[in-house]
Amino acid sequence: MAFKIKPDDCVGCGVCKDNCPVECIKEVDGKCVINAEECVGCGTCIANCPSDAIVQE
Ligand code: SF4
Ligand code: SF4
Repeated sequence: MAFKIKPDDCVGCGVCKDNCPVECIKEVDGKCVINAEECVGCGTCIANCPSDAIVQE
């Protein structure tokens, strides 16, 4: 199970980054990116993303 942010849909609001409990999301060139090795799969980012940019694969 992996969580991924679709760059084309991310508006760079930073909500996911600010609410990730293990701080595994960083911002790169105005888009957020998940470090899959640190992600614990809690689902908080998906629940809070305003543009449905995060997918579970
Ligand atoms: S919450 Fe969604 S739109 Fe906002 S930075 Fe994260 S992935 Fe991008
Ligand atoms: S699923 Fe949880 S741990 Fe993984 S990136 Fe989203 S908020 Fe962070």
